[in-house]
Amino acid sequence: MKKRLFIISNRLPINIATIDHQVQVNNSSGGLVSAVDSYLNNANERGENQFSEIFWAGVPGCSQADWVEAKKSFSQSYYQFLPVFVNHRTYDLYYNGLSNSVIWALFHYFPSYAEYKSEYYESYIKANEDFCTEISRYAKEGDVIWIHDYHLLPLAGMIRTHFPNITIGFFLHIPFPSYELFRLMPDRWQYELLSGILGADLIGFHTVDYANHFINSLQMVLGIDAEVNVIKYKNRLVKIDVFPISIDFKKFNSAFNEKEIADLRTLYKQQFKNQKILFSVDRLDYTKGVFSRLKAYEWFLEHFPEYRERAIFIIVIVPSRDSIPKYAERKREIDEYIGNINSTIGTITWKPVIYQYTHLAFDQLIALYTACDMAIITPLRDGMNLVAKEFVASRQDLRGVLLLSEMAGAARELSEALLVNPNDIDGFADKIKDGLEMSTDEQARHLSVMQKRISDYNVNTWAEDFFTQLHNIKNRQREFEFMFLDHQTKMLIYEQYQAAHKRLLLLDYDGTLVSFSADPQKAVPDNSLLMLLTRLCENKKNHIYIISGRDSKTLEKWFGHLPVNLVAEHGAKMKSGNGIWETDKHIITDENWRPIIYRILEIYVKRCANSFIEEKEYSIVWHYRNAEPTQAKMRANELYNEVCQVARSLNIMVTPGNKIIEIRTKGIDKGTIAKRLLKEKKYDFILACGDDSTDEDMFKILAKVSQACTIKIGDAASYAKYNLYTPQMMVSMLSYLESITA
Ligand code: UDP
Repeated sequence: MKKRLFIISNRLPINIATIDHQVQVNNSSGGLVSAVDSYLNNANERGENQFSEIFWAGVPGCSQADWVEAKKSFSQSYYQFLPVFVNHRTYDLYYNGLSNSVIWALFHYFPSYAEYKSEYYESYIKANEDFCTEISRYAKEGDVIWIHDYHLLPLAGMIRTHFPNITIGFFLHIPFPSYELFRLMPDRWQYELLSGILGADLIGFHTVDYANHFINSLQMVLGIDAEVNVIKYKNRLVKIDVFPISIDFKKFNSAFNEKEIADLRTLYKQQFKNQKILFSVDRLDYTKGVFSRLKAYEWFLEHFPEYRERAIFIIVIVPSRDSIPKYAERKREIDEYIGNINSTIGTITWKPVIYQYTHLAFDQLIALYTACDMAIITPLRDGMNLVAKEFVASRQDLRGVLLLSEMAGAARELSEALLVNPNDIDGFADKIKDGLEMSTDEQARHLSVMQKRISDYNVNTWAEDFFTQLHNIKNRQREFEFMFLDHQTKMLIYEQYQAAHKRLLLLDYDGTLVSFSADPQKAVPDNSLLMLLTRLCENKKNHIYIISGRDSKTLEKWFGHLPVNLVAEHGAKMKSGNGIWETDKHIITDENWRPIIYRILEIYVKRCANSFIEEKEYSIVWHYRNAEPTQAKMRANELYNEVCQVARSLNIMVTPGNKIIEIRTKGIDKGTIAKRLLKEKKYDFILACGDDSTDEDMFKILAKVSQACTIKIGDAASYAKYNLYTPQMMVSMLSYLESITA
């Protein structure tokens, strides 16, 4: 069945202006609109449009009265617009305040520009609430919501409280900074913004770096660990992934031959016929690095005087946010600097810089992209930078050089460009020279590789990829949903237990029957637990197994005197009816891996204070529960990667657990043991409980067994049917079962 899609961005993709008392409406042509338009066109052509209706919610940028007028002149569009009216002052503090004077500055690594005013934050939350209220009037469970950008960080969380199962995607179009920057915000803001974003099911970034920074902040602020790029948050799996936004490749590539553009190009080339044309276009923004670009150009002309009168730099700055003081200030500085270059280096017949503070029409933009010899796109920091991709795509003639900042997200994909650090002014000037002297063959080679990449992952692929991943994570959530055991279900389990004749109880120990302890040897079972297990075992209908990752010695010391069956090291050894410890006969004992792994773990013990190694018969465990969390997490990731590499050539498996990394002989897991026990005898009631990733193997096997009740301790998502919050709750449930004497 087709779903309804709600796209939410700060502004609606239309411009409404009142000219001579007439309300006029124009479609805007930002990157997001062209992405969604192109995705929908393609999907419609292939008959694969998965959406029945598409709503676009955002601030309309006009009064309610003008909106009523404007609606009369809406042209045919895919979208039904949902205007969000935010009070004027609130909007100012939300948009110019928190969004652009705090988040924008901080996330682009300009911490000294950020102003942490609480009135900004309160208005930001209020504006997001206004969005939420408007969406909630129309949305319902089953819809798909796609939220965009830094203005709306808390919105997914707000919508989630109204619609717990709705599908929400969030995409951040700017960088996500390192935790060292993010933590500069007041604690409450950090906490609320991150929890808000986690209201989404899928969170998209432009680059792997941004995604990693986000995951790191989640760990530091909310204490959440990611397993690869999926986290478990409240009752959901949330995926964090990378989707580098792109452009409509065909539109830019085919524009080259359009008559108006070709004519303009000829005109520009004619105008500067004996000069190399350098070109840049950016919005007015301190992140765009216009200053360092000018300095590098000045340096270039001073150090390579042969280019004087032979080069011209066309700089277009597109007006933006000039009501924010930092922007207006930057504009003044640029004006002055350019004036200075032209007056000191220029001559009567040659102006080194041609400067325009204006919007360009599409034709003008493409004519400049295709007339220039070099595009200089050198932001100090940029989430992606579409201008770089547009320049590459538009060069159907395979001529021209792209000089691109390493700090732009686009540099990750456009690695054949001449990459430059915009702060390295003399290196930058050298690169300008290198670029201008690059052979046409080399230009063509670089451009064609980059064009192929952009046309393969174009704007349509970007949107398609996002929706596919959103759909996939939703399906995975369904498989992985967790449900806390409520009173009614517990009663049902008790009834089933009572009615059964042969019951199998598979009980994990640490984290399930007892809480974790800083020293694993101190997590000793107390008397009441031992008594409870004894009494459960005395009931002849019960077959009870403590199925643990602990070694057989420890289990023997703690439980050896009870009539309970014991499974040690995740199934490597078992002591059942005959009272003798037996090794699983399927295990191939190959100990060659042990010294290799031990040596690696020893290095990590030295590199991570308070971590230690536990040696068992069939496994080695690196524990980091007592180490400093940030460092420990980093070392755990490193160790995990390193051991996984080594494991490929050895007969071992690597399992990250609760503040541990365990390496053990392949083929031993709790699932295999559960399978074997089910084969040996027929049970009409099975209860399995555990808290860790190693218990998931057992839960997975039992998921297919109808008489099995599986319980995960803690709030993590799981293959188990139910969750219980704590080991104490699990023990109390066992006590209740024990009291059923049947
Ligand atoms: N652009 C525009 N008007 C102009 C010049 C450029 O709309 O006068 C477009 C340009 O084609 C590009 C976008 O503005 O698609 C700029 O996107 P980019 O990612 O480079 O930077 P942003 O402005 O989003 O920070």
